[in-house]
Formats: sequence, structure tokens, C-alpha cells
Amino acid sequence: MQYDVIVVGGGGSGLATAVSALQEGARVLVLEKNEQLGGTTGIAIGSFTTAETRFQRSAGVSDSVRDHIEDAGKFAPPEIEARNNDELRAFFLENSADTLTWMESLGVQFVGPHPEPPNRQPRMHNATAGAKAYIAAMQLEVQRHGGDIICAARVRELIRDAGRVAGVCYWNGTVETRVSSHTVVLAGGDYSSNPELIARYKGDQYREIEGINPFADGSSHDLAEQVGAKLLNMDITYGPELRFVAGASKPFQQWLPATGRGARLVGFLAQRAPRWLVKKMIKRLLVTWQHPEDALFDDGAILLNKRARRFVDETKWPDREIATAEQEDKTGFIYLDKALVERYSQWPHFISTAPDIAYAYARDYLRLRPDVAVRGDLAKLAAARELPIDELKKTIQSQRGGAEFDANDGMLLGPVKAYFTTTEGGAAVNRRLQVLDDCGEPIRGLYAAGQTGSGGMVLFGHGLHIAWALTSGRLAGKQAAAEATDPTAGR
Ligand SMILES: Cc1cc2nc3c(=O)[nH]c(=O)nc-3n(C[C@H](O)[C@H](O)[C@H](O)COP(=O)(O)OP(=O)(O)OC[C@H]3O[C@@H](n4cnc5c(N)ncnc54)[C@H](O)[C@@H]3O)c2cc1C
Repeated sequence: MQYDVIVVGGGGSGLATAVSALQEGARVLVLEKNEQLGGTTGIAIGSFTTAETRFQRSAGVSDSVRDHIEDAGKFAPPEIEARNNDELRAFFLENSADTLTWMESLGVQFVGPHPEPPNRQPRMHNATAGAKAYIAAMQLEVQRHGGDIICAARVRELIRDAGRVAGVCYWNGTVETRVSSHTVVLAGGDYSSNPELIARYKGDQYREIEGINPFADGSSHDLAEQVGAKLLNMDITYGPELRFVAGASKPFQQWLPATGRGARLVGFLAQRAPRWLVKKMIKRLLVTWQHPEDALFDDGAILLNKRARRFVDETKWPDREIATAEQEDKTGFIYLDKALVERYSQWPHFISTAPDIAYAYARDYLRLRPDVAVRGDLAKLAAARELPIDELKKTIQSQRGGAEFDANDGMLLGPVKAYFTTTEGGAAVNRRLQVLDDCGEPIRGLYAAGQTGSGGMVLFGHGLHIAWALTSGRLAGKQAAAEATDPTAGR
């Protein structure tokens, strides 16, 4: 079987590519290395930040893409922002609102817009039931159009023929299969869980830090490199940050229906629910994935390992994260004495947040995440997390240096680990999403989308990664389908 478009990766950008190419009439194959579709997109929260949407208009928000382009440059530290691909990011933001409308046409429901300073207007739109709603809607659309999807199929090589990429070899655990196609789109996500790539580009000291998504192995970056793609900004990462280790049960939004009538009902209710109720729901998300605020350490919280010992100056980033990853099971715990628990029980001292949307305090953690929050005397805390009680007493007392504190009513947060949320580096691409070589020339037949095709952009803040994954997929699918039917279209 000869395909028009083969998509490497069945996450957000890959499925968007597939849907868009199918809508153009192309024959499409999606190859996903995992047993299921979704990738990082499938476990994400689902925020999609964009300007000039119908949601903004109906909320009376007057906004412009030009302002958004300006504001998007205010999130990263200046030395990181200086390395942004300004032209590509502007192009992306000009096209992202159309992608939101396109997602709605596929049945995804949104709430918002929510504010996130320094964005001057509320621009964050959230898919109801979380980001898995994107995956479910796009999977159905691929199937509706007769696109082929093969899971447990890891692409290990790109086939080249007559100076262009002309197919792939994939491995299903038993046999290797070659499939040819007019074009290939790399949509394999990021490399946050690839210690070799992290060490190579960021430094060996970061090697032990994991990605939140353990399957984000950067194998499509390797594929791009094998055929001479230029990789940009490979040392820029989102994180590392300390984060609470996820509970064994599914996060609550994963239980909500993502497609069909159930999803429409959730969307309908979310649009009309009173603000306090929406905040309450969002608070559950906050304690599911968020990281404890660094201010906790500036205020005197103590970072301990499984032996109940301090191991680093916990106020220093990224030493704190690097040292945590070197401890037994890469695990840490955060001790708050009574005064700190009280301080972190009300505004403006919160344990985690999505700014301006909701804030989670000590009591929220005790109520919603008993697996990472326990309150009581030192004996209770030690027993709850299997820490040696004598060592815990010794560490806390020596830390307090004889100062007055109430050891009978503290709080232990954790386990925490240091994680990369995502990596920013990816293949250089042009506006057609064609992958470029070291000389800036397109590698014929090869496209990239999502984090694999991030093209040197810096997408800090919330909601731009998903917006890029879906926008770049939508545009790459169109271009790849066009080149498949008319090979001169890629020139
Ligand atoms: C907990 C969490 C929450 C987040 N929340 C948000 C949010 O709310 N908003 C936001 O904008 N961003 C968020 N992000 C970041 C965002 O989700 C991702 O950057 C984005 O979804 C990446 O999309 P993608 O298509 O590039 O990659 P993915 O969705 O990861 O898809 C890549 C797919 O390719 C597959 N693959 C890789 N290599 C191969 C191969 N060789 N052969 C076959 N298949 C392969 C992978 O298995 C994967 O399924 C979050 C990240 C995390 C970790």
C-alpha cells in the first residue's frame, strides 16, 4: 500500500495532521509507538491560549493577534526569549484561533477565556474534560474518514528515494515493516524522558531528571537528525521543577466523558456553571499536576530525602531539582512547621496555582491529595511516609537551630520529584512545516509538527504548546497532502 501521508506519532500534533490531510482527500497512515494514542497531549490539562476568538467576543473581550504576539514574548526569562524564532511564533499565533474553531467543528467543547498575566487579555481556553477530548475527537474523525492507525508501531528509520523522504520502517516488537508514502510528517513529541539527549544538550548533571511523560523519548528527533535536519534550541526545557508524584488513580478529568453526548453535556454545563463551581473543579486539576511554589522554600520549608535528611540548599534552582533527582528513588518531601502551614492557608500564600484562575492552599491538599499531604506531629508524619522518626526529629530540630516552633502540628508534602514538563527544542521548519537542513533548505518529502517541529520557538506560559501542536498539525497535514497530489507543491 502506498500512502500519501505517513504520520509518525499519534498524539495531538499527529492526529491533527492526519485529520487535516484526510480532509484534503489524502490516504493517511498514523503510526504510534505506544499501545494507545494520545502522547503527552492525552495527559495534559488542555489549555489552548489564543486571541480573537468567539469566546473572547462573547465575553466582551476586545483583543488582537498583534497584542498576543507581543505578550507571548513576556513569559520566558530574557536570555531564553532572545533565542525565540520570532517569525515562526508570529505565524503560529496568526493561525491559532482558526485551529480552535476547527477543534470546535470536530466536537471539542471549550470554557474560557481565562486570564493569565502578563497576557493583557484573557486568552486561555480550556477543553472540557481535559486534553484527552482533543485526542478522542480527532481519533473519531480519522476513523470516520477511513484513515489507518497502527499502534505499537515504532518508526525506526526514514526511507529515502531519489533525494527525498519516501516512507518509513516501523517495528511492532516482532517484525520490521517498510511502508512507502509521498510524504512523512514527524509528530513524535518531545525528549523530556530521553536522558542521553538531555545530557548531550543540557549537561550531564540533568541526566537523572525525568520527564512527566515517561514515553517522551525524542525518537522522532533522532529520525529528523538521521536525514540531516537542523535541530534548534535543544537545551531549552520547560522545567525542571519539583512536582507532586501523581496518585495511582486517574486524575478526575480523565473520568469525564471526552466525546459524544456526555462531552457535549459537560461542555454545556461548564459554560453555564457559576464561577465558584468552575474554580472548584479547576482546583482539583491544580492539585493533580502542579508544582509546589518556590516561595515555600524561601519562607523556610525544608526539603528532605527518604532518610529524612536535608541534602541541598532548597532555595536554589536548579540545584534543588538536580539534587532531588540524585536521592534514593529520586524522591523528596517538604516539611512545613505549624507557622508555615498557617501562612500557606490563605491568600497570598498558596502552595500551587494557575495564576488568576485558582489557588490551592494547605487545606486543599489535605482534602484533595491525602496521598501527598499529611498533617500532625513528627511521629505521625514519619509513619505516614515511612521516614525514620529519629532522623526526622534531628533534622527538623537542627534546622530550626533552637528557634521556637511547634513540632506537634506540622505538615509533610510529597513525595515530590524533579520533572521536565516538556522540552522546547525541535527541527527547524518553514511556514509550510517542511523540515529544513543545516543550509536552511527543505528536506524533500519531510514535514514536522508539535514539539518535534518546534522550529526554535519559545512557548513558555500556559496553553501555547497544545495550540502549536494542533495548529502545526492542521497546517502540516494540508501541506503534506498537497505535495502528495502535486509534487511541485513542496518546492
Ligand atoms: C502534565 C502536563 C500537562 C500539560 N498541560 C498543557 C496544557 O494544558 N496546555 C498546553 O499548551 N500544554 C500543556 N502541556 C504540554 C503539551 O501537552 C505538549 O507539549 C503537547 O501536547 C505536545 O504535543 P505533540 O503532538 O508534540 O506530542 P505528543 O502529544 O506527545 O505526541 C507524540 C506521539 O508520538 C509518539 N511517537 C514518538 N516517537 C515515535 C516513533 N518513533 N514512532 C511512532 N510513534 C512515536 C509518542 O508515543 C506520542 O504518542 C502539558 C504537559 C504535561 C506533561
